[in-house]
Amino acid sequence: MAEEEDGLESFRSDVRTWLVENFPTSLAGRGAALMSAETIDSTEGDAFVWGQRLGAQGWATPTWPAEYGGGGLTQHQARALNQELDRAGAFNPLVRTTGMGITMVGPTILEYGSEDQKQRHIPRICRGEVFWALGYSEPNAGSDLASLSTKAEDKGDHWIVNGQKTWTSGADHAQWIGLLVRTDFEVAKRDGISFLMIDMNQPGIETRPIQLIGGESPFCETFFNDARAEKDEMLGDLNAGWSVGKRLLQHERQSQTGAISGVGSGKRKSLKDVAKEYVGVDVEGRLADPDLRSRLTAHLMDAKAHSLTIARVTAEARGNAKVSAAASILKNAASNVLQQRAELTLELMGHNGVGWEGEGFSKDEVNAVRNWLTGKAMSIYGGSFEIQNNIIAKNILGLPENTQRG
Ligand SMILES: Cc1cc2nc3c(=O)[nH]c(=O)nc-3n(C[C@H](O)[C@H](O)[C@H](O)COP(=O)(O)OP(=O)(O)OC[C@H]3O[C@@H](n4cnc5c(N)ncnc54)[C@H](O)[C@@H]3O)c2cc1C
Repeated sequence: MAEEEDGLESFRSDVRTWLVENFPTSLAGRGAALMSAETIDSTEGDAFVWGQRLGAQGWATPTWPAEYGGGGLTQHQARALNQELDRAGAFNPLVRTTGMGITMVGPTILEYGSEDQKQRHIPRICRGEVFWALGYSEPNAGSDLASLSTKAEDKGDHWIVNGQKTWTSGADHAQWIGLLVRTDFEVAKRDGISFLMIDMNQPGIETRPIQLIGGESPFCETFFNDARAEKDEMLGDLNAGWSVGKRLLQHERQSQTGAISGVGSGKRKSLKDVAKEYVGVDVEGRLADPDLRSRLTAHLMDAKAHSLTIARVTAEARGNAKVSAAASILKNAASNVLQQRAELTLELMGHNGVGWEGEGFSKDEVNAVRNWLTGKAMSIYGGSFEIQNNIIAKNILGLPENTQRG
């Protein structure tokens, strides 16, 4: 570790100075609340100004190449940056305001994009100017994604797209969408898919928000009726979209492992504090309910093991963390930890942990219930829990293919 820290002290000191000059203190420690609030999407106020400054500095995408507007930092510097952001109670609003831009689309464009595509799209993501959605799933193609049937036809200088996507997060306010489309119906399913990038601002695209039990409408049904995609907006080669799409999914899973840094959520109440507040302690200062105490301990050990594993994986990568199939293991572990935590929080709160709205419940209590419901989605999106297990079995353990070729 000492070796990694070599040369980082002056960088850390520059970051601290920059933060003092640029991070509005009014936002300190409010990341978690702001990231889930509409204020983060506003184009006014301190949160907006902060996002603009972070983006202009390239630090919303710290390891992306500086030539396209990224920070050009090494993984070690990026880690130090994130630690300094955390220390200042700061966070990265652009992870949310770019939709899938920072976590998934950008890294995939950097890997597969032409020079023109990088110049066109990456700087705008770095500055937080574009919200990206992703159109993979269809009514008859979820886990079996290769069955997708939304088609793109070659019209000479452009593509015409027809079909329906579903569960498209943020499609109703996205400016651009990354779309998996079928460009050849005659070949094996995976060999006839391409990846198109499409401007959402056109009459051929209609979005219908889907309401969730948690009260939000985070995703949509998205309809393409003679929608237009420009010829130079295909990411990767014609009919090679399966590889591009799978790579993007690895980036998605990586962003859901709990390893993504720079989100800087600000401080939240520890589970131990929630337990003490609602369940109380015995004469020896231990949590009063022995059964809850042992389950809480088991959860805290799982959570610690998960965060230590992430630290080990990062350290072993010696600052060159590469996204790989191992992201599936970490994503499943992160889903387990997050869902366990949400379940335990409600249990600890007792009657106060069943609130939906109204004066009888505090804001934290209502949020705990909503987080519990929202957290259910984590083992579905980005490929379900079972699909990750299939990937682990095949690509990491080398076990034979099952019925789901993936
Ligand atoms: C909050 C949220 C946001 C999302 N955002 C997006 C988005 O922005 N863009 C997008 O394209 N999609 C998005 N999705 C869709 C998501 O990718 C799919 O829901 C997911 O891939 C599962 O597909 P499905 O819903 O069709 O379920 P199905 O594929 O029908 O699966 C149903 C169940 O069967 C199991 N199953 C299926 N096949 C197998 C198998 N071979 N082996 C073992 N078990 C299997 C699954 O694990 C699951 O439990 C989102 C989903 C959620 C919940």
